[in-house]
Amino acid sequence: MLRARTPGGGAGNPVTHVERIPARPGTAVDWPEWVPAELRAVLAGQGVVAPWRHQAEAAGHAHAGRHVVVATGTASGKSLAYQLPALATLLTDPRATVLYLAPTKALAADQLRAVAALDLDGVRPACYDGDTPRGERDWIRAHSRFVLTNPDMLHHGILPGHARWSTFLRRLAFVVVDECHTYRGVFGSHVAHVLRRLRRQAARYPGTSGSVPGQRGGTGGPRPAPDGPVFVLASATSGDPAAAAERLTGLPVTAVTEDTAPRGGLTFALWEPPPLPPSSPSDVPDPADRAGAAAPGGGFDAAPVRRSALRETADLLSDTVAAGVRTLAFVRSRRGAEVIATTARRRLDEAVPGLGARVAAYRSGYLREERRSLEQALLGGELLGLASTSALELGVDLVGLDAVLICGYPGTRASLWQQAGRAGRSGGEALAVLVARDDPLDTYLVHHPQALFGRPVEATVLDPANPYVLGPQLACAAAESPLTPADLELFGAGAKEAVEALVAAGALRHRPTGWYWRHAGRPEVDLRGTGGTPVDVVESSTGRLLGTVDPASAHFQVHPGAVYLHQGVSYVVDALDLDDGCALVHAEEPDWSTHPRDVTSLSVASVRSYLDAGPVGMFLGEVDVTSQVVSYQRRRLASGEVLATLPLDLPARELRTVAVWFTVSPESLAAAGVDAAEVPGALHAAEHAAIGLLPLVATCDRWDIGGLSTANHPDTEAPTVFVYDGHPGGAGFAERAYRAASEWLTATRDAIAECGCETGCPSCVQSPKCGNGNNPLAKSEAVRVLDVVLSNLARLATAEPDAT
Ligand SMILES: [Zn+2]
Ligand SMILES: [Zn+2]
Repeated sequence: MLRARTPGGGAGNPVTHVERIPARPGTAVDWPEWVPAELRAVLAGQGVVAPWRHQAEAAGHAHAGRHVVVATGTASGKSLAYQLPALATLLTDPRATVLYLAPTKALAADQLRAVAALDLDGVRPACYDGDTPRGERDWIRAHSRFVLTNPDMLHHGILPGHARWSTFLRRLAFVVVDECHTYRGVFGSHVAHVLRRLRRQAARYPGTSGSVPGQRGGTGGPRPAPDGPVFVLASATSGDPAAAAERLTGLPVTAVTEDTAPRGGLTFALWEPPPLPPSSPSDVPDPADRAGAAAPGGGFDAAPVRRSALRETADLLSDTVAAGVRTLAFVRSRRGAEVIATTARRRLDEAVPGLGARVAAYRSGYLREERRSLEQALLGGELLGLASTSALELGVDLVGLDAVLICGYPGTRASLWQQAGRAGRSGGEALAVLVARDDPLDTYLVHHPQALFGRPVEATVLDPANPYVLGPQLACAAAESPLTPADLELFGAGAKEAVEALVAAGALRHRPTGWYWRHAGRPEVDLRGTGGTPVDVVESSTGRLLGTVDPASAHFQVHPGAVYLHQGVSYVVDALDLDDGCALVHAEEPDWSTHPRDVTSLSVASVRSYLDAGPVGMFLGEVDVTSQVVSYQRRRLASGEVLATLPLDLPARELRTVAVWFTVSPESLAAAGVDAAEVPGALHAAEHAAIGLLPLVATCDRWDIGGLSTANHPDTEAPTVFVYDGHPGGAGFAERAYRAASEWLTATRDAIAECGCETGCPSCVQSPKCGNGNNPLAKSEAVRVLDVVLSNLARLATAEPDAT
């Protein structure tokens, strides 16, 4: 090791917890008897001599015609669970077809290689995505029986052109939905409807396939007659995967969750960087923080108080590399990965000249060949350390490392385990370290290991009933073929109202035979957002499209003068043209970050559900949020010093969304010792921390969420804290917060109470996205407010055990 660390347990020890996860032997079973000998032989040739029990179990459900989701850990061999039934059917029924969906093109390409390597007669697997040359598309439609694509291509290409796909759809036996836990929030809600549109089109072309899965001697048990393709979903370990899969597909789904693949032992350490000396300037800020600070709200008045997670991870990486340990470090931003690799290389070269060459950065911009050669170098041992963006979680072949460093909580326990799961060769011991960033959630987690280790991973949250998703999706469906009353059932709650709204808006026409799309072109619907056309971010000098920004956050992220980060590269915005939906930028790395200030007001439109807990009320409902970005600050990167405040001339924006809110009577606050003068600061501090801790109970990050607190709101006539979904119509996050209110607010209270700071810091009540510059904030009073809320909610729960 390059430096000494304070050994175990002392106040200066950055290790806050060590969790031991014991090794586990695997449980193999015989091949199910329906797997053709030819398939067994090629799999054996690839080293798969027998399936693990969970693979055989999931495959058996699918083969018997039951929709199934397999939700097990990283490297547990989920692919075999869908390859077995899909390929067995393709081999025994020469007409059947299979559609495979992956969230990324890279993952689909990896799966294509895996299936192509089996070299099975007549399967003809092919990727069909945005990169597929026009000339190959006709061939794929006509001849491929295993088509690999992504939800965007299904939405924009395959479903609108369903007539050309009619033969393929008519014979569709299986739909594989890989990494289905990534379909969450607004994106997940859209994908849920894309899958319903797929089911509808498959049903329009009645099956002529010679045999339906399951008719060749199933694995027993009642088999529902499938009137459409069988869905096989693969998920990372997640809470209640069957319910999430049912929301996603609209079908009854059986879950297989017991992981029977062998696993080496894992030591998992939680690491909190030490505080900086009071006078020292903050060191390398994570560029991801800067990106975040440019998102809704903006405003980061205090310099970080701890050593940065980036610097700390770089030091740990050089320590492990110096000790000959093969290590992968995950970090959120591309520039963060570069900073970690550069810092570690420099430290290693100082210690042993030449050693630095054994560390590299690894990011999404690399070509596949470059990625493969880095992977090979790491697995072969020429490279010892790799710093990678966490975006590479998916579709990467890096498993079997000695150690994984995770720089900052990746947002969900599911991602955390997926990243940690990269560590561990079969039979060998492995190490994972989570390095906390200076924010409330990370700080809470490293001091509450039971929140990470003692509980299942979070449920995937999506809300297909969101009218802002449902309406546009029904328009797409109608453009594909007229909607019938029976279709409305398929699209679920709210479909009737949504169709009526589309008729009223002139988008659909109602005729006796159904609802017809009235326009010549197809509806323009982006799966990744709601509320209008996204704003294009364009580099002026080259005309290159760098990316798009949801219109709801364009004012915050790409206002004139904003520093905009794209894949870790820094740009400055020259102009934002709201009429053309376009922001012009140039590459520049200024010494400052930008922080928008906004003025927000909120009114309650309706209450969906509430809890009356005496002096405390807890509510879920629709709200109208009006916000206007009025100015922005430039702050020096290293110190956070305000360099300038510049006015902006942008229109106000309206957002109809879903919120959770609580009210507390002024009398109960006074009784708890909160001075009237401190109420605004106490509520504001509680609001910030509550937003920071919401990802603990819902799969969102704090940038998906907004908040507002006030000592007297005209609609509630009481001191109130609102937390709302940042997407029009809501994404399910506020609803989840309402359902898990006690758990959520208890964690919020503990995070504030246990923070060692005196008056509030970024680890507890300060927010990097505050529109009011983190003013006022009253830390200890916030704890008292939450105590009042929690004690009254607890009393209600005891009094009315049935209350929901
Ligand atoms: Zn604090
Ligand atoms: Zn604030």
